[in-house]
Amino acid sequence: MTVEPVTDYASRLLAPNPGPMTLDGTNTWILRAPGAGSAVVVDPGPMLEEHLRAVLDAVAQYSVTSVLLTHGHFDHSEGAAWFASQANCPVRSVDPAFRIPTDHARGLAEGDVITSGDLRIEVLPTPGHTMDSVCFWLPQDGSLLTGDTVLGRGTSVVAHPDGALGPYLDSLESLRAFANSPAGVQRLLPGHGPVINDPNAVLTYYLNHRHERLNQVRTALAAGHTTAEAIVHHVYADVDPILWPAAERSVQAQLAYLNP
Ligand SMILES: [Zn+2]
Repeated sequence: MTVEPVTDYASRLLAPNPGPMTLDGTNTWILRAPGAGSAVVVDPGPMLEEHLRAVLDAVAQYSVTSVLLTHGHFDHSEGAAWFASQANCPVRSVDPAFRIPTDHARGLAEGDVITSGDLRIEVLPTPGHTMDSVCFWLPQDGSLLTGDTVLGRGTSVVAHPDGALGPYLDSLESLRAFANSPAGVQRLLPGHGPVINDPNAVLTYYLNHRHERLNQVRTALAAGHTTAEAIVHHVYADVDPILWPAAERSVQAQLAYLNP
C-alpha cells in the first residue's frame, strides 16, 4: 500500500477491499496544500487496520485537522472513528451518527468551507446515491471529490431506500452545470476507480444512462413485469448477475421515482 500523488493537493491510498461494488477498492484521499504542515483525510475506508495504519503513516508528519466523509456507507466510513482517535482529529459528516464529537458543528452543509493550512474545501451536497452524499470541491486544484455519486468506471447505484432517484438526477444535473461553469473543474476524484479527466462527458453519460434505464423500466412495466426482481431480469440482462442485488435496489429506486 503506497501513497499515490494524484494532483498537487490530493494523494490516494487504495484500501484492499476490491469487489463488484467497490471496484479496485475504496479510494482514501489525503488532501494537503503544497508545503503545508496540515492535512485532511476524506473517507478513511473500511475497518481494515493495515489500511488505516498506512494512512496514518502517510500523514505522520502532518497534523490532521479533520476527517471528512462523502457518505455513510461502511466501505467509506467504518474506519473513521478508529482513525480519528489515532490521529486525534474530528470527523465531519452529513449523518450525525458518524460525527466526532457529535455536535452540530461537525455537520456538512451547502456553503460550508473547510480550511486546513492554505487548503480550501467547499461542500456541495449531492443527495441520491444516498441521501447523505456530498462532494468536496478544491477550487485551488480544480479537483472535485465525488464519493460514490460518480465512480471512476461504470456507473453508480441509487441505493434504495438510503438513496433516491429524483435527487440523484438533480445532483448529476447540478454537477454537470458546475463542471461547465467558469469554476474550472478539471477532474473528478471518485470514491472508487480511476480519476476522471473529462467530467462533462462522464456526467452526460451518467445522465443518459439513467434516463435510458428509466425508459427500459417503463417498457418492462408496460409489458406486465411489475416486481423489482422481474424487472431486473428483463432490464439488466446485459449486466453480470453478481450485480443484480444492487440492480434490484436501483430498480426499486426507479419504481419509487415513477410511482411516488
Ligand atoms: Zn456508497
